[in-house]
Amino acid sequence: MRIAIGQLWQETNTFNPLPTTRESFNQFGVLRGGQLVEQMADTNELGGFIQSLRAWPERPEIVGTVRLPAWPSGAVTVDTFDWLLAEFVESLQRAMPVDGILLALHGAMVADRHPDIEGELLAAARRIAGRTPIVATLDLHANITRAMVDHADALVLFHTAPHIDVFETGQRGARLLRRMLIDGAKPTTAFEKLPMVAPAERANTQDPASVSYGLRERLQALERQSEVLAAGLATVQPWLDIPELGSSVVVVTDNRPDLAGTACRQVATELWRRRRDYLPELTPLAEAVAAARRETSGLVVLSDSADSTTSGAPGDSTWVLAELLKYDWPRPALVPLVSPQVVEAAAKAGMGGMLKTSLGGVRDRRFSRPIDIEATVERLFDARFTISGHLARNLAVDLGRSAVLRRGNVCMLLTSQSGPHFAPEFFQAAGFDPFAASVLVAKSPCGFRAAYQSRAAKIMVVQAPGCAPADFWKYDYRNIPRPLWPWDEMERWQPSTG
Ligand SMILES: [Zn+2]
Repeated sequence: MRIAIGQLWQETNTFNPLPTTRESFNQFGVLRGGQLVEQMADTNELGGFIQSLRAWPERPEIVGTVRLPAWPSGAVTVDTFDWLLAEFVESLQRAMPVDGILLALHGAMVADRHPDIEGELLAAARRIAGRTPIVATLDLHANITRAMVDHADALVLFHTAPHIDVFETGQRGARLLRRMLIDGAKPTTAFEKLPMVAPAERANTQDPASVSYGLRERLQALERQSEVLAAGLATVQPWLDIPELGSSVVVVTDNRPDLAGTACRQVATELWRRRRDYLPELTPLAEAVAAARRETSGLVVLSDSADSTTSGAPGDSTWVLAELLKYDWPRPALVPLVSPQVVEAAAKAGMGGMLKTSLGGVRDRRFSRPIDIEATVERLFDARFTISGHLARNLAVDLGRSAVLRRGNVCMLLTSQSGPHFAPEFFQAAGFDPFAASVLVAKSPCGFRAAYQSRAAKIMVVQAPGCAPADFWKYDYRNIPRPLWPWDEMERWQPSTG
């Protein structure tokens, strides 16, 4: 028995003007064939696939196709899309014949002129595979489309946000494939697309006070039923100005369309009914920083959610930094920024040197602006580390040459590449204990909570401009379907599954 595995991973943000290119994928780490199986054996969904497959009594041969990952950023260029599709198609053709295909997808990747990359990719896979089972995993922020549902045998979604079940979702996907191949399960999918987009900030599936907590429990209870193969919902990546934007519920049963339809309809109705519980609670920036300064008992985490690098924002917004610089801090105030130019200038000035420079506000000029700073170059380092927790299990990350600039206790952690500018491992790589800081700026809307919720004295989501704003419906979208909540207030919505 031969099982092919592969990955295409990126969350696109169409407000970010920086295009995602072939170079973005190569920089993050393209892997092919046996190298993929070897290097990803304990990492994320691919690791979940590999470890599950290795535990099957049938001992299938695991055939690596290709891993194509890029850090969240702006839309993929058309040339890059063509390259991705060709890489994917050729590697799958080489792998054939196989008995089953497991694909780890994000589900919210958008290219210029191709708003549904995963749908096109799954259609291509279906053309190659014929009736061979295809099971795909998706992020909870996937924009699930009819094409994706139609061309896969089953879609398996993360249950958690922060995403702490990435590896386990891979295992669930592999288990589902085994039920098809060994037990003869016949997947039948019910799919509801809702005219709503839920903000991420309060969608914490681990917080009993969040609406997402109960929905997660409900989906997991469904999956414990023997006839249900998978149950998931996707509240969607909001910063996609595309025609098919919307939240989704997917329930896959073993040949029980009635059960799939009923369960899908019930979860979708509950998601719709509770939609207003997702509306974010934002603290005005000046108020948040003043409150952080008053806090003396421990770490304050400020979520700069609008510039979240995990949401595909550019990561060089200066609004929060400018406010932090107005105060003296008793312990370090840690502010990450993506700024290859200033890293280079810092390297020239050398460790201990003084640097007078313009910082930030260049990767996106609509929602941010540069500020002038004078600071000491405290440290030069290579930001290479491995993250586990939100988004990852044992995921190697390389943010390139990096520098720490210091002015008073405000420490600017500058990297050459965008990445997880919230992860404790990142702050540690820069030489800091994030939990001992006065303030830490997390460029993340919700995922950061996995690491900080239990250890921070106070957490605030600040209101500042950016490419990934929490109040996105106040921004200019031109291509989304209307009516769509919260852009449009609607009371009624009817599920389509019967
Ligand atoms: Zn996500």
